[in-house]
Parts: sequence; structure tokens; C-alpha cells
Amino acid sequence: MPAEIRLFPCLSDNYGVLIHDSETGATASIDAPEAAPIEAALGATGWKLTDILVTHHHHDHTGGIRALKEKHKCRVVAPAEKTARIPAVDETVREGDKVSVGTLSANVIETPGHTLDHIAYWFHADKLAFVGDTLFSIGCGRVIEGTPEMMWHSLVKLRDLPNDTEIYCGHEYTAANIRFARTIEPNNPVLAAREAQVARLIAEGEPTIPVTIGDERLANPFLRADLPEVAGIISMDGEPPEQIFAEIRARKNSFK
Ligand SMILES: [Zn+2]
Repeated sequence: MPAEIRLFPCLSDNYGVLIHDSETGATASIDAPEAAPIEAALGATGWKLTDILVTHHHHDHTGGIRALKEKHKCRVVAPAEKTARIPAVDETVREGDKVSVGTLSANVIETPGHTLDHIAYWFHADKLAFVGDTLFSIGCGRVIEGTPEMMWHSLVKLRDLPNDTEIYCGHEYTAANIRFARTIEPNNPVLAAREAQVARLIAEGEPTIPVTIGDERLANPFLRADLPEVAGIISMDGEPPEQIFAEIRARKNSFK
């Protein structure tokens, strides 16, 4: 049986997401931005929370853990990295570990850069990846604890997932990301098409995710830092991709 997904807004611009195994009834919350919308999603679906899979330690991804754990006695899985500082953890995981949610199975991919502890959960049989604040649609997370080089290598790991992998990220930032991306690749037709699609989704009150890795590869400038045409546009021909990535990230940081 395929995994079932429930996506819903939390806090000001975070996403909550539940993944449900209909065979066993197991249900995981990916991160726990706040308890109330997660409880509401559980109530609406009738699913019982068995696990919380944490991507990184930021409060807007962990603030609901204690209340949910107290009520549901669920297992909390979190990064093993020592900087994680996450409450109520039952099990820590690192690169190459597998995490089961009922009969569903995720591979852990370490993606440091935004934070040092950041991990993604890749449910390869279900063609799903939960990437937290490492990769956003048409964007990426700020490099807060790691280095641009570290972040670039993390993004390449996610880019290397199969093209039909559906990506769920931690925030709804897509429209703002597109406005910036158009300054890097104004003539990218895939990006222009994505802009029109996102405007329509937002007007309809719909989320702009999930997106596939294949689509992101063609339009997300942060995944395209090693393409000669991108280097050329920002006048960095021949520079190493991590430096081109660092320049694009720096431009995004000061973009209004
Ligand atoms: Zn974060």
C-alpha cells in the first residue's frame, strides 16, 4: 500500500506533514512546528500518531514535540549530531540509517549547512523525501551553522535523488524564491512556467509543494550552481560550484 500524506500550514509559514501507513496504521509527523494543527490533522484523518521524525533542532520544527509526545506516547527520532539539542528524543539517527514507520521505510540523509544537525528522510519506495529547511522549492535554507561548501554538497545529495522523488520542505517560500530566481536566470523557460503555476496555486489558496526533484533541477538556481550558463550569467565562469553557490546564496540574503 502506498503512503498517504496530509499537508497543512503551521505557525506563520511552516508546513506540517503527516505520513500514514494504511497497512499498520502507523503515522509519523515530519517535525512538529506546533501541536494544535497536528492534532487537528490527526482528528480530521482519524490517524493515530506513532512517530515524530525531526529534521533539525530549530524551534519552528520542534516546538510541538513535548505536547505531542506526552499525549500520544509516540517515538521521537532525531539527528544524532551533538548540536541537535532536541527535547524528548527516543532514537537518534545518522547518514545511512533506516527509519521505519509501520511498513514504510526511510533512509536518513545527512544534509548539514542550514544547521549542523540537519537530516532528510527519503522514503525511496514511496518516492517521497522530507527535506526540512535544506531545500525549498526554487530556493534553499539559509546557511546558518555550516559553510556554503557544506550546504552545496548537501543540496547535491538531494539533487541526486531520482527525478520523480516528491519533495516536501519545511516552509511555503516558493513565490518569494521565484522572484529572486528570476534575477539569476531571467530567461529560464521552466522557471517562467513555474512562476505562472505558483501564482495560480497561491490565488487558489493551495500549497505550492510537493515538487519533484526533476522539476527543481531545471528551475532552482541553488541546484544549478555547477552549470556553465549559470556561472556565465553571474560572471563567475570557471569558478568552483561551491563558490558560485555561495555567491547566489549571498545575493539571496540581501535580496528585497
Ligand atoms: Zn530551520
